[in-house]
Parts: sequence; structure tokens; C-alpha cells
Amino acid sequence: MYVIFRCDCGRVLYAKKGVATRKCPCGKTIKVKSRRILQKVETAEDAAYAVQKMQEEIYGDSMFSTADEYKNNKFLNQLDRKMKKL
Ligand SMILES: [Zn+2]
Repeated sequence: MYVIFRCDCGRVLYAKKGVATRKCPCGKTIKVKSRRILQKVETAEDAAYAVQKMQEEIYGDSMFSTADEYKNNKFLNQLDRKMKKL
């Protein structure tokens, strides 16, 4: 059994049931028991798939749905272009 939960940074993570802590790529170590469990699945494959699906829902198509987010993205694009010139 694997449990799926989110870090404070927003990332969706999974851990084998019974594992006490899980380290997020953001650097935070999460106590699995202290998190709200979003989903439980049987296998690691299912867990990886569920995490991917949730990340897509959170960051996917709706990522730049607001004007502000669009502006931020444009800014990042410009920054990216400047970096390439250097
Ligand atoms: Zn995190």
C-alpha cells in the first residue's frame, strides 16, 4: 500500500505505507503521518501514476490561465532569451 500526499510547497509525493518520513525535492522532510492522505493505492506504479495525474491537474493546462500568470510567464521567457544572448 502506498499513500499520496502533498508537501507545503505544492508537490505531490508518495510513500510506502508505514514509512515515517519522506524528503521532498524542495528540501523539506515531511512526516507522512502529519499529512492529509489524498489517495491510497496498491503498487508503486499506481502511486507514480496518481502523482503524475495530480501534478498535471495542478500545474497542467490551467497553469497560465490568469493574466498575472501569463505575464509572469512572458517575463520568464524574456529572461530566458536574455540568458541565451549572454
Ligand atoms: Zn516540498
